[in-house]
Amino acid sequence: MNKSAFYKISYGLYVITSGKEGRFNGQIANTVFQVTSEPPTIAVSINKQNFTHEHIAASRRFAVSILEEATPMTMIGRFGFRCGRDIDKLEGIRTRIGKTGVPVVTDHAVAFIEAEVVGEMDCGTHTIFLGRVVDCDVLAAAAEPMTYAYYHAVKGGKSPKNAPTYQQETPPKPAATPVARAARYTCKVCGYIYDPEKGDPDGNVAAGTRFEDLPADWVCPICGAGKDQFKKEG
Ligand code: FE
Repeated sequence: MNKSAFYKISYGLYVITSGKEGRFNGQIANTVFQVTSEPPTIAVSINKQNFTHEHIAASRRFAVSILEEATPMTMIGRFGFRCGRDIDKLEGIRTRIGKTGVPVVTDHAVAFIEAEVVGEMDCGTHTIFLGRVVDCDVLAAAAEPMTYAYYHAVKGGKSPKNAPTYQQETPPKPAATPVARAARYTCKVCGYIYDPEKGDPDGNVAAGTRFEDLPADWVCPICGAGKDQFKKEG
């Protein structure tokens, strides 16, 4: 079985928010899809260990914000690699309260969909929640929605271990003849690779900056881990 076949499935990138009574959380998901048109129904697969899972299970409602290509990695990292039990992920993020009472993330969102849970399926590590759509709208008609392929190829994004589409990656083989170049460093928390040739555009770090020369307070653009959480490649 060649699981690379799964990479040929097209996905998008979404922020899922849920909660009630002033307690809310959000997370990144790529597994959202429309199930039926009439009545309008969508589904999302959520890891049972995620804080958002607790919120959806208890409040029976959730919102989906469809992210644009230009979404900075810091925002994806905030919702995808941090835990809502540790930080308020919605702090400083633009939202609006939807019909369900759930804050809908509007920052970098091309559209949103709000749904009430009408069914669920236990899938072992994950639950698929089926949601009857109660509201939806386009927020930025001209912006391109981000595909999961774009997130990986262009943004250099990773899948967290609790994503339904996570696969263990095999590290690249070192070149037979090592070439003299500034070392790349890997974040031990989320797998982000700091490549000196690319720098960190979201963090205003110019291309060509060596890892050693990054400011001491520089943090991983994906998960917010400090420099001490990085391991030299090779
Ligand atoms: Fe990281």
